[in-house]
Amino acid sequence: MSISWELYLKIRQAIDFLRSMERDNPLNLGFSGGKDSVVILNLAERAGIKYNAIYANTTVDPPGTISFIKKNYSQVQIMHPERSFFKLIEGKGFPSRLRRFCCEELKERYGIGKRSIEGMRASESQNRKDYEPEQCDTRKWMKGAIHILPIIGWTEDDVWSYILYYDLPYSKYYDDPYNLNRHGCVGCPLCNCKQMQLEFKMFPRYAKCVIVAVERYMNTHPNGFLAQNFVDGYEAFYYYINEIPIAEFHELKKGLFSFNAKEIIQREILNQIE
Ligand code: SF4
Repeated sequence: MSISWELYLKIRQAIDFLRSMERDNPLNLGFSGGKDSVVILNLAERAGIKYNAIYANTTVDPPGTISFIKKNYSQVQIMHPERSFFKLIEGKGFPSRLRRFCCEELKERYGIGKRSIEGMRASESQNRKDYEPEQCDTRKWMKGAIHILPIIGWTEDDVWSYILYYDLPYSKYYDDPYNLNRHGCVGCPLCNCKQMQLEFKMFPRYAKCVIVAVERYMNTHPNGFLAQNFVDGYEAFYYYINEIPIAEFHELKKGLFSFNAKEIIQREILNQIE
């Protein structure tokens, strides 16, 4: 196994960059348990810089993520939230691309006012294509946080080549029989709906918890959008994971063929629960 000359240069640049970012206080390092975080942790170690690696327990990561981290990356500190992802849904309804309250409460709060090394890569999303390796967070409540992105210009192939070359332990969910292409919150609304459905099918217990949580939210917010448009948590969940316009959802219910969200979700997702 060898690595390409291009990747060798990227590694050297990333290590030099991390060293140039070091100050008196240790840098934060966001470790999610996914492949990119495995790489940045190893780069930080090889750079010899002072850092505090933190795993923010979102409570909705693929099962076994915490055991994987404890076993293979014991230097990572596990941080547990005051309220789980499901408790947040109970209080606020579904998160969305525009309402990322779960990210703010479960993950981003650890970076407020800090300089944090993160495994973000430009090739993962259009929004990141103009990101600089040192990125200021302009949101006021983040209090001048700085995102330090040593692998922003790396490709997915670079990441895998690095992991395999250095023989780094990585999550089982990237391999058969799971073959997930991302490792993070199951059913994250920042992904497209096909990905959400695939992940909820793979981890149906999380789907059930979301349905229970959103139904509680609907009961305590009878005048809200969800309670006004859906008869139960199953219908709301169906709408959530299909990203259809609300008018289209109502058309479905009026259609010639009876539509039963609970039956569909039980058949397609929840029947996988052993
Ligand atoms: S579900 Fe998505 S938006 Fe919510 S905390 Fe997880 S990554 Fe962030």
